[in-house]
Amino acid sequence: MLDGEQCHSRGKVIIRVQNQGLRGAAGDPHLILASSATLPLTYRENDLETIGRDLTEMQRVPLAQSHVAAMRNVGRVVSYAAGTFLVQPGDPADRFVYVEEGEIEVVNPFTQERFFPSTLGPTQFMAEIAFLSGGTWSMPMRAVRDTRALEVPRQEMLRLMSQIPEMSDIIITVLAARRRRQLEVRNSALVLIGEEIDRNVRRIAEFASRNHLPHSSYPLASPEATRIATSCAIPTDRPAVIFGRDRVVPDPTPDKIARLLGVNYDLADEEAFDVLIVGGGPAGVAAGVYAGAEGLSALVVEDTAIGGQAGTSSRIENYMGFPTGISGADLLWRGEVQAMKFGTRFVTPRRVTQLERLEGAQFCATFDSGQRVRAGAAVIATGVQYRRLPIDRLVEFEGAGAYYAATEAEARYCKNAEVIIIGGGNSAGQAAMFLSRAARHVRLLVRGTSLASSMSSYLSSRLEADPAITIEYNAEVVALHGAERLEAVTIRDARHGTNRTIPTCAVFIMVGAEPNTAWLAGLVELDRKGFILTGAAVRADSPFATSCPGIFAVGDVRAGSVKRVASSVGEGSVVISKVWEHLNG
Ligand SMILES: Cc1cc2nc3c(=O)[nH]c(=O)nc-3n(C[C@H](O)[C@H](O)[C@H](O)COP(=O)(O)OP(=O)(O)OC[C@H]3O[C@@H](n4cnc5c(N)ncnc54)[C@H](O)[C@@H]3O)c2cc1C
Repeated sequence: MLDGEQCHSRGKVIIRVQNQGLRGAAGDPHLILASSATLPLTYRENDLETIGRDLTEMQRVPLAQSHVAAMRNVGRVVSYAAGTFLVQPGDPADRFVYVEEGEIEVVNPFTQERFFPSTLGPTQFMAEIAFLSGGTWSMPMRAVRDTRALEVPRQEMLRLMSQIPEMSDIIITVLAARRRRQLEVRNSALVLIGEEIDRNVRRIAEFASRNHLPHSSYPLASPEATRIATSCAIPTDRPAVIFGRDRVVPDPTPDKIARLLGVNYDLADEEAFDVLIVGGGPAGVAAGVYAGAEGLSALVVEDTAIGGQAGTSSRIENYMGFPTGISGADLLWRGEVQAMKFGTRFVTPRRVTQLERLEGAQFCATFDSGQRVRAGAAVIATGVQYRRLPIDRLVEFEGAGAYYAATEAEARYCKNAEVIIIGGGNSAGQAAMFLSRAARHVRLLVRGTSLASSMSSYLSSRLEADPAITIEYNAEVVALHGAERLEAVTIRDARHGTNRTIPTCAVFIMVGAEPNTAWLAGLVELDRKGFILTGAAVRADSPFATSCPGIFAVGDVRAGSVKRVASSVGEGSVVISKVWEHLNG
């Protein structure tokens, strides 16, 4: 592996990841026991690795005196009278708050009562993972008693964390565990009502769930939904998205929610970075980790959700280091946090629609929002996007019964239902295994006569052995039926030339994918199928260099790459040494 070795031998990779053992925050206010009925699927599968430690089992490790002394040099002491709110949901997470004296509680935004039984006391700190990315607070925090805190501005604190890895490890371990706990108990100022009937609300649920953004969701007319709607003075019979105490979000879109939560923000126009990374799948996130670790200023721009295709995989079993498997979304979230720790920034949902070469070896990227940023180099890690099928009314049912990914959100819609999956590849097989835990029955429709050539044998044997899964060969969906939502599909048996219609609320289309590179045409050379040509094919010296010096391609979008998580992570990691050479050469 040329690039990786060169990178290390030049001594430029400065990743310092320390194993902390069990530590954390007993008595942390995010510590609360949830009933297993409220837990999302991922967290009930306790054999899988997740995004962080279990806060309920962690022993608290306070920051050392030397850490506090370092903070004191750049922070200031602030006093809060009992009853004062330190932050409200949506406020910028622009400071790190270390409690010296007093007590701080998390507050329920709707009732204004204490949310968790436990509170933060002296030597504990008030911060959420959004602090790393410059996001916003998700819950109100209030001083229970007169409280004195040492407050450090975000940039100063990030600088200290990069200088003192032991301190960084204590903080990040706690922040990750707090986010895990927030997701488990679904506590947040973001509340969704009527996800089951409203497509817009469902889009928000999917966006939040795929990006690990805590939220709670209640069916329309449920007691909780009615109580919250009444407290916000809105009709109890309409779907709604609510943020904070009474902020009803009109015409909700993932973009609006991302702005409220601080995961999408306007950069300064024409803001300049060393490297622009397009795509937040395994290749792009890995590039973000290594770019940050090499001291490059990097921006990762992601169109849908950090995680890419891997983020839609419920169980990755072949990625080294996770012998019991890990969900793709959790793996990528860990990478995102790691990259943020090194200073790499992320914006989502944002799509890069144009890339231009400027005078002086610079590039200018334009986003779908019209925003423009500049960079000295660009790494294209845009992977592949799912393929649609030519079935009538498919577009009408997309998001309302027709899906292209099987994540926790979709699994909730399929609870105890008959589900259909179209496709004979590994993605379809993994989706069948995952959905069979929630659905009553899963029917896998395969156009060919066997799975032998399209699916890994370990997976096809598991499918065959699972009584909740039926595999139908020579089968294809030819029609979709329903009014507002999908209600039934017609399946054609190609061998006998017969059609039959069966009721179902969900059909998953998993029939492969293609690169979406039309926006790069004319700038870099593509192969016949639209994959980006690199290395020898364009007479370049690096395997990841494209025909345009300064633009690199990694992962699934690169012609000839191995389409796997590990290879995408590897390519995203090692390409950074070539980016560094380009910028400094
Ligand atoms: C369901 C499923 C299960 C899988 N299971 C496994 C497995 O178990 N093991 C394994 O090794 N591999 C697995 N794979 C394959 C693996 O996930 C992919 O090979 C890997 O994700 C490719 O990574 P990537 O970063 O190159 O691209 P992707 O993961 O495709 O990520 C590309 C990202 O770029 C974004 N993007 C695209 N265009 C733009 C733009 N113009 N602007 C901004 N963002 C953009 C996309 O939204 C996407 O998030 C699975 C794939 C699927 C779909």
